[in-house]
Amino acid sequence: MKVGPKANEYRDTWAGDLRGDDAGRAVRVAGWVHRRRDHGGLIFIDVRDRSGLVQLVFHPDTSGEAFAAAERLRSEHVISAAGEVVEREAQNKNPNIPTGGVEVSVSAMTVLAESETPPFPVDEDVEVDETLRLQNRAVDLRRDVMQRTLALRHRIVKTMRDVLDERDFLEVETPILTRSTPEGARDFLVPARLQPGAWYALPQSPQLFKQLLMIAGYERYFQIARCFRDEDLRGFRQPEFTQLDLEMSFVEEADVIEVMEAVMTAVFALVDDFAVAPAPWPHMTYAESMLRYGNDKPDTRFGLEIHDVGALLRGSEFKVFEGVLSGGGVIRALNAGRREMSRSELDGLNDVVRIHGAKAVAPIVVGGPTHPWTGNLAKFFTTEQMSAVNAELGASEGDLLLFVADQEPTAAAALGGLRLELGERFGLIPEGRHDVLWIVDAPMFEPTGDREHPWGAVHHPFTAPTTPDFSDPGAMGSRAYDLVLDGVEVGGGSIRIHEQHVQEQAFEVLGMGEEEANRRFGFLLHALRQGAPPHGGIAMGIDRIVAILAGRESIRDVIAFPKTASGGDPLTGAPAAVDGRQLRELHVASLAPPPAQG
Ligand code: ASP
Repeated sequence: MKVGPKANEYRDTWAGDLRGDDAGRAVRVAGWVHRRRDHGGLIFIDVRDRSGLVQLVFHPDTSGEAFAAAERLRSEHVISAAGEVVEREAQNKNPNIPTGGVEVSVSAMTVLAESETPPFPVDEDVEVDETLRLQNRAVDLRRDVMQRTLALRHRIVKTMRDVLDERDFLEVETPILTRSTPEGARDFLVPARLQPGAWYALPQSPQLFKQLLMIAGYERYFQIARCFRDEDLRGFRQPEFTQLDLEMSFVEEADVIEVMEAVMTAVFALVDDFAVAPAPWPHMTYAESMLRYGNDKPDTRFGLEIHDVGALLRGSEFKVFEGVLSGGGVIRALNAGRREMSRSELDGLNDVVRIHGAKAVAPIVVGGPTHPWTGNLAKFFTTEQMSAVNAELGASEGDLLLFVADQEPTAAAALGGLRLELGERFGLIPEGRHDVLWIVDAPMFEPTGDREHPWGAVHHPFTAPTTPDFSDPGAMGSRAYDLVLDGVEVGGGSIRIHEQHVQEQAFEVLGMGEEEANRRFGFLLHALRQGAPPHGGIAMGIDRIVAILAGRESIRDVIAFPKTASGGDPLTGAPAAVDGRQLRELHVASLAPPPAQG
């Protein structure tokens, strides 16, 4: 049951709770002046608190001194007002707000604080420059949309906690000042004053601590964990972000997946019109995702799937394709459908694929039965080849086919990028559709192109392989699973390596000899010798999940105090220069000149 505020000198009720059956009650409300209107000698003030708003009415005859004071009220002044709840005349009722049937006829009012003219309106949902919003975050966060978003965030996190609590998970905190945890990003480092020359790293995730908790017999752990990764920021990234992190013992993939489906089903149910298919959710292999969608987080809400057409086109007169095929590359294509695109728009698609390292896109328009393709390229291919490709792509007359010929990872990524671009450009994602699926069977290792360290971990170095045969790292599968929602990776995890000798071999493939492995992860290897149960877990990106559920483009809109794309905080001015004395105390000297302070 909801508990109202304890009566004090400021308020005895929430403004947003007042209804028709409160008529006749003497109440005291407190909050901000949301809007003010003067009407036929009366002053109307909407007063806003966390719960919503209610209309106050000031009468020249009955409100006494409060009336004169109300004349001086401006937007965002902070007030406390006492009066009687009265039912509004029928023609004055406002059905658009929950308190619209009543108003408070004010008998006394105190101005608790005045406000400068706000930098942007709080009472309207208008576009405001983001830097201005972040600089004035205390005002920005008053806006209804922000209040609703942060309230949703609270409910999402609470639901996660409740579902896990019901299933015997324990919430355990792990350190923020720690040693580096490799999740593939750069560490944020903190100099250790008490140990000159030594550094803490902020955790990229609680990965190793949660594994230690499994070895320690906690069986079911979770944490709403802050993680820190010093990487270049894009739309869905922040240097510090929040994960639902969990780990379980004596489990296989299906056990972790089942728990997370229960958590996420409860989370999705928090938003009225957020419809996803009921769990269990589909599984797609990593290889299939890379082939059909060109990435490992497929947006399956629209078609334009990618096909491999190399085998169908082999042996043509077209030198470019033949060169790529004989160099071990691939030819991939997608059917963009019937699209009106000008020459320059088609040329513009080259810029999209270049971001992914491909040279160009070859566009072809499908012709009639006697000439399967129109345009210059048609002359290089046999009718059978062209018809076979048309059949593979389900193409009919007038469809635009887009080809990329390159090494496999490049061709996949280029067409994947192209597909998303076209999906957006032509509005192919159906309004209100949400797709959720698991990506499974990812490889353990991927080539880095670096001679000294030829292999990198596709997930992280603690992920268990499907079979512990390290003779051909490129052929090894992993026991990882990622959850993808609407083309965004919202979570990922794996069954872990729980045997020390297997962990050592994984480190070795990653170019970490015994000495280095012991220096960096000796504490883990040591614990793996102390009775480690089979275990696995997952981490979910809370900021991303809230953003998708709240329908916000940017995760900055779902974090109370976020950083900008350059990693700065316009509110506090962080990061900022520090005194030379502070650096000396930390035994640190800076190679960079102090930044200009804005
Ligand atoms: N530690 C991983 C991450 O943060 C998640 C996991 O494997 O549980 O990405």
